[in-house]
Amino acid sequence: MSATQIEQQALHHWIAGRRDGGSGGRSGLVLDPATGEVTASVPFASPEDVDRAVAAAAEAAEPWAATSPVRRARVLQQFLALMRASTDAMAARITSEHGKTLDDARGEIQRGIEVVEFACGIPHLLKGQFADNVGTGVDSYSMRQPLGVVAGITPFNFPAMVPMWMYPIALACGNAFILKPSERIPSASLLAAELLEEAGLPAGVFSVVNGDRETVEQILDHKGIAAVSFVGSTPVARAIYERGTASGKRVQALGGAKNHAVVLPDADLEATADAIVSAAYGSAGQRCMAISVAVAVGDSGDGLVSAVIERARGLKVGPGSAPGTDVGPLITGASRDRVEHAIEDAIEDGAKVVLDGRREDESGGFFVGPTVIDDVKPGMDAYDVELFGPVLAVVRVDSFDEALELIATNPYGNGAAIFTRDGGAARAFEQRVQAGMVGVNVPIPVPSAIFSFGGWKESLFGDIHIHGPEGVSFYTRGKVITTRWPVPSDRDGVQLGFPVHHE
Ligand code: NAD
Repeated sequence: MSATQIEQQALHHWIAGRRDGGSGGRSGLVLDPATGEVTASVPFASPEDVDRAVAAAAEAAEPWAATSPVRRARVLQQFLALMRASTDAMAARITSEHGKTLDDARGEIQRGIEVVEFACGIPHLLKGQFADNVGTGVDSYSMRQPLGVVAGITPFNFPAMVPMWMYPIALACGNAFILKPSERIPSASLLAAELLEEAGLPAGVFSVVNGDRETVEQILDHKGIAAVSFVGSTPVARAIYERGTASGKRVQALGGAKNHAVVLPDADLEATADAIVSAAYGSAGQRCMAISVAVAVGDSGDGLVSAVIERARGLKVGPGSAPGTDVGPLITGASRDRVEHAIEDAIEDGAKVVLDGRREDESGGFFVGPTVIDDVKPGMDAYDVELFGPVLAVVRVDSFDEALELIATNPYGNGAAIFTRDGGAARAFEQRVQAGMVGVNVPIPVPSAIFSFGGWKESLFGDIHIHGPEGVSFYTRGKVITTRWPVPSDRDGVQLGFPVHHE
C-alpha cells in the first residue's frame, strides 16, 4: 500500500473475521509525526462493539481450544510466511504512523516474527506430565488448558512487536485474542489481522478493537474476558493491574523504564560509546529498553561524554522514510514539548546540556535531535522522569557500589547494562543489580523469544513475564487428573480417612 493510499484511509476494527466500522460515536485521528498531518481516522469501540468482539471470540474460542495444538501451530506457520512476505508493507505503515526509520520498523517486525517462530513449537510446551502408581492402582497426569478469551492492550512505540509478544503465544495455547492497539498506530495490527485470516485462523479467534481509555476500561470490566496483557507507561500499567485483577482477571502489566548503563573506567571506550549512542537515540529514544542514563564510574566520565557527543552530533535527524535518516520524529507535539521542557529544566537545575537537540523546524514534524545532559543528579526531571525521547542523562559516581545503589533506588527496573573488561565486576553486577533484564557490554538486553521479557519494580505489575515460557504459563492454566480403574478385588469399601497415595 502506498503512502497516499494510507492518507485516504478511514480505519476500522476487525471483529468476527472481517472489517468492522463500529457502531458509530467517538473516533480519533492518526498523524504522520514527520509532518504533523492527519493521515487517517480511527473509530473508537463503543461498549456494543466490545460486546460484539467478545461474543465472536467466545464462540470461536471453544472449537479453537479443541483443535489439536499441532494444527493450531500450522496456522501460525502460515502466518509466519505471510509476515515475512509482508514485512516491507507493514514497515511502511509503521513508519508513516510512528515516525521511526524503515530499518527500525523492519527490525521490530523481525523480533515479533521470532516470537511466532517460538509459538510454532508450543505444542511441546503444552504437553503435561504423567506419573503412574501415585497410589496403588492410581495414576496422575497434568495438562495445561487455555483460558478462553484474553485481551492485549499495547503502546505506540512497537506497534508490530509488542502485540506479537502476546497473540502468537495466546493463540498457539488455544485462546481467542482481542487486541486493543495504541490509537495512534492502529494500522499494523489491522494488517496482522488480515494476514492471520489469510493464514487460516478461524473467524473470531483474533479481533482488533480500536479505542482509548474508555475502550480499555470496557475490556477490563468485561466478564467475558479472562486475562489481560498490558504494555505501556507505569501509571497506566498500575491502574490496569488494579482494575483488571479487581474484576477477577489474570493480569500482567508491563510499565515504563529508566534504563541505566554503567560504564567502568576499564571499558573499551570506543565500543561503549557506539553502543550507548545506538541505545539512547535509536527510535528517537522511544524504546522501553532505550538507555536513558549513563552512569560514569570514577574517571570514565570525560572520555565517555566526548566520545558520545562526537557520535551523536553526526546523526541525521529527519523523516523515518527518508534514506539516511538516523533519528525520526517523536510521536506527538506533546512528546516533543515534554522533552524540550525537560532540557530547559535541566539547565535551571544546574546540569550541563552539552549537546542540545532542540531545533527550529518548519516541517511541522515533531523533531528533537540527540541531546546529552551531563552532571545529572537524582531529583532532577532529566533523571527522575521517563522522557521517552533522544536524551541521554550522564550521572557521575565514584564507585561501582554507588552505581548499583543508584539503580536499586530508582523506581523502575526494566533493563540495566554494564560496560567493562572485568569479568568479576560484570558477574557481581549480574548478581546484584535490581533489574529484570541485564546486559554485559550489550546496551539493550532484550531477551530472545525463547526467554521471557519483563522488568522488576514499577516496570512490571503482576509476576509473570511476557512471551517465551512464562507467556505459555500466563495464557494457560494447570489441571491435574487422578485416575483409578478398580477391579472387584481392589474394592476397599467406605474410607472416611483422608486419601493417602503412598499406601
Ligand atoms: P500509554 O500507557 O500511554 O498507552 C498504552 C496503552 O494504554 C494504549 O493502548 C492506550 O490507548 C492505553 N491507555 C492510555 N491511557 C490509558 C488510561 N488512562 N487508561 C487505560 N488505558 C490507557 O503508553 P504509550 O505512550 O503508548 O507507550 C509508551 C510507554 O510504554 C512508555 O512508558 C514505555 O516505557 C512503555 N513501554 C514499556 C514496555 C515494556 O516492555 N515494559 C514496552 C514498550 C513500551
